[in-house]
This record gives sequence, structure tokens and C-alpha cells, in this order.
Amino acid sequence: MPDHPGPEDDGVSVDSIYFSREATAFRKRTRQFLHRHVVPRLDEWERDRRIPRETWKLLAGEGLLGLHHPSAYGGGERPFFHSVAYLEELGRLGHGGFRGAMSVHSYMATAYLQLAGDHGQKLRYLKPAVEGDMIAALAITEPQAGSDVSGIGCQARATGDGYTVRGTKAFVTNGMNADFLVTAVRTAGGPATGSAGISLLVVDARAPGVTRTPVDTLGWHCSDIATVRFDDVLVPGRNRLGRENTGFVWIMKAFQLERLAAAVLAIGEADCALELARRYTGERRVFGQVLASHQVVRHRLAELVSHVEAARQLTYHAAWLHDRGKLAMSECAMAKLRATELAVDVTSQCLQLFGGRGYLAEAPIARLFRDTRLDTIAGGASEIMREIIADTDL
Ligand SMILES: Cc1cc2nc3c(=O)[nH]c(=O)nc-3n(C[C@H](O)[C@H](O)[C@H](O)COP(=O)(O)OP(=O)(O)OC[C@H]3O[C@@H](n4cnc5c(N)ncnc54)[C@H](O)[C@@H]3O)c2cc1C
Repeated sequence: MPDHPGPEDDGVSVDSIYFSREATAFRKRTRQFLHRHVVPRLDEWERDRRIPRETWKLLAGEGLLGLHHPSAYGGGERPFFHSVAYLEELGRLGHGGFRGAMSVHSYMATAYLQLAGDHGQKLRYLKPAVEGDMIAALAITEPQAGSDVSGIGCQARATGDGYTVRGTKAFVTNGMNADFLVTAVRTAGGPATGSAGISLLVVDARAPGVTRTPVDTLGWHCSDIATVRFDDVLVPGRNRLGRENTGFVWIMKAFQLERLAAAVLAIGEADCALELARRYTGERRVFGQVLASHQVVRHRLAELVSHVEAARQLTYHAAWLHDRGKLAMSECAMAKLRATELAVDVTSQCLQLFGGRGYLAEAPIARLFRDTRLDTIAGGASEIMREIIADTDL
């Protein structure tokens, strides 16, 4: 290292135009932290189907629950590429459940508080979430409405100085353990259908009338998925995020970060699958030689690595636009589409290289195969991404 920064030493990592030296050092520290404190317990959490509360506190202590949130609310106010590095490292753990729980908490549910919350709401909910004292969940999807957010029917009737909420939310990540739920509701008085009558409320998960039921899913086992029912739940008016009937606009804004995060996580997952395959094919012998020495295997892996690198660069570009405050709807949709479709394909092809061992329920590649299958569905299905791209770019 030179003593004094030369012209070439502009703080940017030699490996990438996107990551500063600080971001690269942060990635290294984060990887070490995750491997020391999280990896040894992931299998246990998957079996227990929950992440213990102290884990949130542990991650908060490292600043990982609020990297991009303002320091006034306990966050790190770090450059966005620190979040990109963190999300990629989360994906590389190869446990969809853990990365699902953490990313919904930090980049989805709390994103609404940052975007639309007032100072009091941020103090009551964002700060404790960033500090690991509260677990956040996002409740938009309903049994009758997922991709079509404008079709939600959960009702919020004005009562006293607040609302009475009635309805059901489906597939709520962190649902059983959450302390609060950022919830999309249809506000009575606004239009009964369509995007105009939707508002966002922060609902206390322990309020009378809230019933939570665990849901069994193919993968993402420790992510604590629940169905949440609201039976005349009283929500104070001060818990409404933004103005009444503006919820749809906030949801569309927040979706950009959600899709970007999904793309970065998927790249990390594809990296993990390739690493597992690289190691296994370097050891497994078939017909007298290691698998990796068969040209067909080497070429298959080379092909996959190239595709992942292309999707990574597209994703970084979308992240760079997002970081500059651009409305990069199409680029984020492209990144989400390419990266998640690829993660599903890469994990499937890598599983093939493991033969029967890849099909064992406890094999890491099998878990990755189950977990990544969700990537092209949640956070906006691939079909919705294609719609956005077609609307913007054709
Ligand atoms: C494990 C898990 C965790 C989740 N976590 C959360 C969460 O924390 N909070 C939350 O609010 N939601 C969450 N979801 C819900 C998720 O976001 C929805 O499942 C997703 O948006 C799709 O909605 P849907 O399941 O209702 O499918 P639908 O909207 O019914 O669509 C079914 C399928 O139809 C296709 N499709 C949809 N629209 C079109 C179209 N216009 N043209 C062509 N094809 C189309 C797609 O392939 C889609 O997958 C989670 C889901 C799962 C499974």
C-alpha cells in the first residue's frame, strides 16, 4: 500500500467500480461476522423454524439492521453499496429463510417507515427495529390479492381518532414473531376498488383482535411465515403512514428497493450454489477421474459463472441508478427478473452435479434449490417484471 494516496487511489476498490475500499472492507468484516455468529446456528434455526430474538440484537450490534437508515434513528447512513455487499453476503449463506427474515425487516417493512413515516413514527418503530428491539413485518398480500396489489380488500373503518381493521393477510414473513406489521388496508371513504383507496397502517402485532397462524412452506423454513387475521383491530390514527389513500404510491416506490434487494440476494445465492458445486466436483470421482476434470462439467460451470457475472453487473448498474435517486423501475425489474430466474436455474443445474447426494433433504444444495424457487414469485413474480419492462421499454 502506498503511504500517500496516489491518483489511482481514489478510494475505489481495485475489483470494482461500484465498491469503495470501505465497502470492500465492510464486506470482508460482514462475511467474517456472519460466518462466526450466524452460520454455525442456521441449521438449528431451520429445524426450529424460527430465528431467536437475540440474533436480531446481535446483528443490530454490528449495524446490520439499519445500514441505509438515517443515524437519527440508529442507522448507519452508509452508502448504498454497503447494503449491496451485505445483501450479497446474506444470499451467499445459502439459507433463504435467514436472508428472507433479515431482508424483509431491513429493506422492506422498515423501508416504508423511512419513506412515509413522520418523526414520531420513526422514533416509535424505525429506531427500535434498527436497534434490534423490535421485529418488523410487511403485510400486503392477501388470500385474494398478491400480484395485483390494487385488489386488496382488508378494510380500515374510521373510528374515534383511528381505524378499525378487519381482514386477512397471507404469507407474512416474520409473521409470528413480529412486533409490528406495516399493513396495506383499504380505507373506508376512499374508492372501494383499485389503487386509489389504499392506505398504510402500522399495526401492533399484539393488539387485541390480531390472530397469527404459522404457515408451512416448501423452503424458507426459519423465516417465520404466518397468516395474520385482523378482527376489528383498533389502530390509532397516529399509526397511519403518509396521507390517507396514498398507500399505493408508497408501495410502488418501496417496491423498487424490494426488487433490487431480491436481485442482489439471488446473485449471492447463485454464487453459493456455484461454490458448493465447484467444491464437490473437485472431489467426487467418477470413471477414474474427478468430476471437474470432465470437460462437459467444466464448461457447464464456466457457462453458469459467466451468466451470473452478467446478471451481477446488471444488478450493480440498477443499484447505482437507485443510489443516485433515479426512478429506475425498468432496470430494477430487469435485474430482479434476470437474477432470480438465473438463481433458480443455477441451483437446479448445480444440484444435478451432486447426483443423488444433491437430492438428500439435508444437503445444502437441496435447501438452496428449495429456497431459491421462491425468488421468481415473491417480491413481484417474473411475469410482473416482464410487464413492467414491456410497459417501459417497448
Ligand atoms: C415464503 C413467502 C414469503 C412471502 N413474504 C411476504 C411478505 O412478507 N409480505 C407480503 O405482503 N407478501 C409476502 N409474500 C407474498 C408474495 O409477494 C406473493 O406470493 C407474490 O406477490 C405473488 O402473489 P400471489 O401468490 O397472490 O400470486 P398471484 O398474484 O395469484 O399470481 C399467481 C401467478 O400468476 C402469474 N401472474 C400473476 N400476474 C400475472 C400477469 N399479469 N400476467 C401473467 N401471469 C401473471 C405469476 O406467475 C404468479 O406467480 C410471500 C410469499 C411467500 C411464498
